Amino acid sequence: MSWLDKITFEDADTWRREFGTPCFLYDESALRAAAEAAKAFPAAYGLTVRYAMKAAPNANLLRCFRDWGLSFDASSLYEALRLEAAGVPLERVSLSSQQLDAGFADLHRRGMAVNACSLDQLRRFGEAFPDGRVGLRFNPGLGSGGTNRTNVGGPASSFGIWHASLDAARELAAEHGLVVERIHSHIGSGSDPEVWKRVAALTLDLARAFPKVETVNLGGGYKVARMPGEGATDLQRIGAPVRELFERFAAETGRRLRLEIEPGTFLVANAAAVLASVEDVVDTGAEGYRFIKLDTGMTEILRPSLYGAQHPIRVLRAREGAAERDYVVVGHCCESGDILTPAPGDPELLAPRPLPEARAGDLCLVGGAGAYCAAMSAKNYNSYPEAPEVLLCADGAARLIRRRQTLGQILENEISVE
Ligand SMILES: *Cc1c(COP(=O)(O)O)cnc(C)c1O
Repeated sequence: MSWLDKITFEDADTWRREFGTPCFLYDESALRAAAEAAKAFPAAYGLTVRYAMKAAPNANLLRCFRDWGLSFDASSLYEALRLEAAGVPLERVSLSSQQLDAGFADLHRRGMAVNACSLDQLRRFGEAFPDGRVGLRFNPGLGSGGTNRTNVGGPASSFGIWHASLDAARELAAEHGLVVERIHSHIGSGSDPEVWKRVAALTLDLARAFPKVETVNLGGGYKVARMPGEGATDLQRIGAPVRELFERFAAETGRRLRLEIEPGTFLVANAAAVLASVEDVVDTGAEGYRFIKLDTGMTEILRPSLYGAQHPIRVLRAREGAAERDYVVVGHCCESGDILTPAPGDPELLAPRPLPEARAGDLCLVGGAGAYCAAMSAKNYNSYPEAPEVLLCADGAARLIRRRQTLGQILENEISVE
């Protein structure tokens, strides 16, 4: 039974009174268990686990992972600065960004590693740090990921240096006297061991072309099962053939490469839920649907609207009674796409779910809300304030780690020109 299934109406009602709804609940023990599983990834010659912080960037979560021995992947300079502000040493941060802001030079001087993610980024790095040490992010030409929107490799993806530009990258590095010490690929590989094996092999081939490479980073993309019946990634199973490839590479070349992995989703997805109140229950007649309206939605959980992602939903009630009905669960925005029960993979379609009969004032838990929810949502749409975040600590305490935003904060940067 997961931490989420153990939450009772009484627990949830206590948190509603203390923090209000909607609010994010993060379970520290679940975060810890995921971190320990990641640290056990099979590696022949050393392992660095980097938390891809874009999944959930609250400083308290970052400090948990720091204290449990993880390093970090920043996908923008702002994220790197946020890590530093949270107390993470820059030596534990690596930047792989679509946009290389000029400030990268200062952070690199102070310890942050940089992966050049395009030929132009490599040129700019070389100009700023002649004879410097750099990593290269490649697009190995292979894509995976659950949907077209989560696919980050292959010809339809702009991330990284296209593998066929290898010679151009080598020439640019030589021109600036750069030492390429790290090869990086992140294609969102999912849970299939065959895909991981192929990506590892392609990435090792790239490492072969750069004799000073010491580290190979295979990125993140480890799928988790949010819903019963969804496939989850077994890290031991996908890691075993990867370890073998590293060993074979060492036997051939004499080079013992360190492995880096960079999970975001895997570390946080199932460690959080949104606690929401049932605002209303309405229907559209015999030929229509029965809807549960929550006081949350795309303002906290955008993934269903964006990808047709599935999140488990529990209705919590004070009263007894086992009757279930089919409900479409919707959010509070004036936007027909604000729906929490789309068809799997198709945000256009409604997929009613059997749920306990609900009334206004009941509570709901929307699970699987740790990754790309608080971090990536339609914040402030309809002028709803950013929801608070709460850490359910291993010692049993529920601690507020982000306050609810105020209307004043939403208006703060508006300038009146009347
Ligand atoms: C987003 C990202 C990750 C993490 O991806 P998940 O699917 O959340 O595991 C890792 N590395 C890089 C470079 C990323 O951009």
